[in-house]
Amino acid sequence: MRLDRFLSQGSGMPRSEAVQRIRRGEVQLGGQVVRDSGAQVITGKDVVWRGLQVRPYGHVHVVLNKPQGLISSTDDGDGATVLSAVPEALRHKDLAPVGRLDKDTTGLLILTTDGGLQHLLTHPKRHLDKQYLASLEQPLPADAVDRFASGIELADGTVCQPAGLVPESNLQVRVTLREGKYHQVKRMVAACGSSVVTLHRERIGPLWLPSDLPQGTARRLTDAELAVLLAAVTETKVRTLVPDVLAPGSLVVVSEPAEEPADA
Ligand code: URA
Repeated sequence: MRLDRFLSQGSGMPRSEAVQRIRRGEVQLGGQVVRDSGAQVITGKDVVWRGLQVRPYGHVHVVLNKPQGLISSTDDGDGATVLSAVPEALRHKDLAPVGRLDKDTTGLLILTTDGGLQHLLTHPKRHLDKQYLASLEQPLPADAVDRFASGIELADGTVCQPAGLVPESNLQVRVTLREGKYHQVKRMVAACGSSVVTLHRERIGPLWLPSDLPQGTARRLTDAELAVLLAAVTETKVRTLVPDVLAPGSLVVVSEPAEEPADA
């Protein structure tokens, strides 16, 4: 396949832009800068644009340690979006956040170009739990743990599903949710007479915020991270590939995602 086509498909940029970038010497093929956009990409010859490997047809999945101040949207009409924290080389035109974090919430956010994955990870029937660390204005009452566990009623009468509450100190709690209502942690805490000062998402299902990902930075999700996420929301089995086919320890999905539950 021609290099300009490969770069365009892998990055989401228009073909004309790919041609320009190749001419400017931004792209390496097999470790060499190549300025000929008609150069042929042969299997095994890595295409690298601005230090990041471009993959041909695959979707782009990104893990972001969200800072405060960015909105979980792709439309910057209301302010800077989480896309602005994603390296340019991964900013595919179809990349969108999976679910939302409030503008002032920090921590783990996944973005993907794959609408199917987006659906799997957000479908209420999957019960993919999410864990948050919250600091509070006032201590919660002693019965808050039981109220969270039995399903808190919010101020507008909405009843939440049972949720985990683990006090870490007087003014810090860990909250685990199995659903994602608007401002849910803040509203649950408010229903118990306190308010959230800072909120940080630490985990989505089996995936923890990588400890080596500084706040405000993003990188591609590894194959292993993607595989454990998929395994949590589908009947998909994962297995380790033979080391000489992929890097040692790489994981690959070997079966199709399970059908949607009948009552979904
Ligand atoms: N709950 C909230 O209140 N805000 C978030 O961003 C996420 C969960």
